[in-house]
Amino acid sequence: RKGNVIITGASSGLGLATAKALAETRKWDVILACRNFLKAERAAKSVGIAKENYTVMHLDLASLDSVRQFVDNFKRSGKPLDVLVCNAAVYLPTAKEPTFTAEGFELSVGTNHLGHFLLSRLLLDDLKQSDYPSKRLIIVGSITGNTNTLAGNVPPKANLGDLRGLAGGLNGLNSSPMIDGGEFDGAKAYKDSKVCNMLTMQEFHRRYHEETGITFASLYPGCIAETGLFREHIPLFRLLFPPFQKYITRGYVSEEEAGKRLAQVVSDPSLTKSGVYWSWNQSSASFENQLSKEASDAKKAHKLWEISEKVVGLA
Ligand code: NDP
Repeated sequence: RKGNVIITGASSGLGLATAKALAETRKWDVILACRNFLKAERAAKSVGIAKENYTVMHLDLASLDSVRQFVDNFKRSGKPLDVLVCNAAVYLPTAKEPTFTAEGFELSVGTNHLGHFLLSRLLLDDLKQSDYPSKRLIIVGSITGNTNTLAGNVPPKANLGDLRGLAGGLNGLNSSPMIDGGEFDGAKAYKDSKVCNMLTMQEFHRRYHEETGITFASLYPGCIAETGLFREHIPLFRLLFPPFQKYITRGYVSEEEAGKRLAQVVSDPSLTKSGVYWSWNQSSASFENQLSKEASDAKKAHKLWEISEKVVGLA
């Protein structure tokens, strides 16, 4: 049978390119889990994904009710789940004030981390039950949350501190909107959310890999400087960022190439090792990359897991 893969945020950028790469193999039914149904349908059409290889399902990660609704709808479809890709993200580098999810969590961490945390927890059983030869849960990470890299050292740096803001609900009322309890900073909130994504992947690996055989992985696909992620940035940044990444840092990667990389992590038979943060070298070969101290801190991963469980209502 064809494999079933859910990709969140597949209506643009990396998610869409990955959906296309997988659909073209005709070995996958790709479920585009998107907040804007019409945009996702149009996007799939515009890149030429054939009807028989995809389905669009509504999912708004900025609402935990929507996440639960999505999971119910998926379970009711009766399809097995073979691979889940947590890809969607928002990045609000120029925001002066925080904005919030339906439940009142700061939007970047609420969407990128908490929405995906609940989604993957609720779908873990489906992955477990799948009879597919290689079941995988993939969470897209980023270099910017990794303070052991040049990009990760551009201020403001990621730092989750003692997680007091998250424990307080990230709501900006009786707690700080930032995980570490500090002042709101949109660029930092995004980086923090990516550290959470990488920590979550490793905690899943420690808790569930042996028991379930599921491969848990994260990746940094390269700098895809032209995606919608930078839509909130100032125009001059959007103009200069792609050539800067192409010619100066040489970290630039096209959407198409990045999509192929993520598609490898979904389906390549050689990338089955669990607990790995994948990256690619200049000649586009994959390798197991090192995470920063904070992004590989097992104690912090454990604490983040427990607090996130409480915050999303699982514990
Ligand atoms: P895009 O902005 O192009 O794609 C992000 C996707 O997330 C969009 O489809 C967007 O939907 C979706 N999304 C946003 N909020 C929600 C929500 N509340 N519910 C459901 N979907 C939502 O950015 P990229 O393709 O660049 O980003 C994809 C991933 O890659 C992210 O995890 C990002 O952190 C990561 N990444 C990107 C890098 C880059 O250089 N671009 C580098 C490293 C990692 P909509 O279309 O409706 O806006």
